[in-house]
Order: sequence, then C-alpha cells, then structure tokens
Amino acid sequence: MAITVDKDGKETGGIIDDDVIQPFSLETTGLRGRMVRLGSSLKQIIEQHDYPLPVSYLVSEAVTLSLLLSAMLKYDGIFTLQIQADGAIRGIVVDVNAKGHIRAYAGFDKDAIKQLAGKADRNYYDLLQNGHMAFTVDQGENMDRYQGIVQLEGESLLDAVQHYFEQSEQIKTAVRMAVHPQDDQWRAGAVMVQYMPESLQQELDTERGEERREDWRRTKILLESCKDDELLSPNLHSADVLYRLFHEEGVRIYPATAVKHVCRCSRDRVANVLMSLSGEDRKDAADSEGKIDITCEFCGKTYLFTQEDLKQLS
Ligand SMILES: [Zn+2]
Repeated sequence: MAITVDKDGKETGGIIDDDVIQPFSLETTGLRGRMVRLGSSLKQIIEQHDYPLPVSYLVSEAVTLSLLLSAMLKYDGIFTLQIQADGAIRGIVVDVNAKGHIRAYAGFDKDAIKQLAGKADRNYYDLLQNGHMAFTVDQGENMDRYQGIVQLEGESLLDAVQHYFEQSEQIKTAVRMAVHPQDDQWRAGAVMVQYMPESLQQELDTERGEERREDWRRTKILLESCKDDELLSPNLHSADVLYRLFHEEGVRIYPATAVKHVCRCSRDRVANVLMSLSGEDRKDAADSEGKIDITCEFCGKTYLFTQEDLKQLS
C-alpha cells in the first residue's frame, strides 16, 4: 500500500490524506486514473505570491491540472504547463517533477484585474483572451521531449485540456475538478480517468467496440457524480472517495506520491542563464554599478551577482 509521509516528508505509518497524487485503475475495464488532493502545498503557492482572487483561482486550477497530467512523466523528468494570453493574465507557468515537487507563478496586469473586480471571479475569457496552453514533458538528455499545444477555447482550462486529449492524442480523458478557498485555506481536488491509445485504437474498432464505448460512458457518469465536497474535504481519504465512486468497477489503489511545494532554483542555475547571455545583453541587465539582481519568479528568492562575480562567470 501507500508509503505514508507527513507534511515534512517523514514517514508516519499513518494514511496520506492530503497533498497527494493517488493513482488507481478500474479492474473491470482496464481504465486508469489518478486523484489529486491539495491543501497546504496549494496554500503555500498562493499565499507567497499574494495574487488577486481571480488569478489565484486560475493558478490553483493550473496547478491541479499539472499534477493530473504529470502522469505523462514515466520515471523522471519535468512536466511543464505554460499558459500565454493577452488578457488581464499574461501567463501562468507550473512545473512538476516525478517526485511531486511543484511550483507555479502568474504574470498579470494589476489594473486590468482591478477593472474586472465587479465581475464574476472566474471570468475566464476576460482573463485569458487569445490564450493558448502548452504542455512539455522533458525527461532528460537522452529522451524525446514531448510538447503539445491547445488554444484556450471552451469555458475553462479543464475544457481545453479535455479537448486537447480528444483531438490531438486520441486519449479519452475525463476529469472532475473543484477548487475552493475554505476556512482561509486554498484547497483543490480532482479525479482524472483515461482510456489509453493502445486499447482505444484496438478495441473501439472491434466487435467489442460498442461494449467499450458503453464502459467509457458509464465511467464518465460515475465520475460526474462525484461532489465538490468529496473532492475537497480533508476528512475524507482519497481511497474512500475512489471506492465510493468506482467500487462496482473494481477500483484498485496504487502507492501514492506526496505533493510538495518546492522551488528548484539555485545560484548555479541562475549563473548558467547569465552565462548563456551575450555580453551586450548582460550589460543591459546590469545596474549602474555593473551588478545584476535576478529574482526567481516562482519563489521570489533574489540572486545578486556583483561585477566581480560576473567576471568569473565569463
Ligand atoms: Zn525559486
């Protein structure tokens, strides 16, 4: 069963109940999925940036979707979800590694967000005009890098993700997701079920095709029956939620991964970026004393390079 750890990553012998990725399969149909529940890790991401509410909502959704989609990482590597738009939000970047270490930030126009204040908090179109979303799966030097891009159409980020999988990847993907600020704590929960391409191509064309379509329809209906409370409540274990939803489908629970808010920035990485700049660009980035200050957008940490430091880099 699951390796059980507390918020600091120490083994507790208890049950992982929060900040967790919980993979599962449905034995009767062979469908696979994962459930994501976020409490303190999401709170840390949101609170350190002090974003306005509508931005926080969309960042929370992007973080939750990234953890679901990081199922695309096989062993190691980094999954990145990147949104670019011309609306009040300019961009959102989330990345997550195979250990469940996640970080995120958003770029936005403060005045434009203020102008939207009187409208609904989640006015997707106003916030993300002409937007698109890219997914990148980077598994290291000797592995293929995968990238997919989808226009932000539909009513939500979730719509765009489902559309992407239906159209580009031929992977049927169904997701139920809820994001809410509760008792001053941001919480999110989601369940994703996927019908993978090997089985999809082979099976939908055979005599069993109709039966398999029916399996998929039934699974989607069961998934849709999941209530926001069930997704969000910290008092309900993810395995219990999955059992409630899918007990007749023979749900099988696999070892869970703890989710943590961790930034991977370091002085060495920033130095590498500076070294990749031309002399001209580096001069432009420096202040009147020849120093360069670089702030990590994910975590806000600042790295200072003096003129002397910069000389040593080149
Ligand atoms: Zn950082």
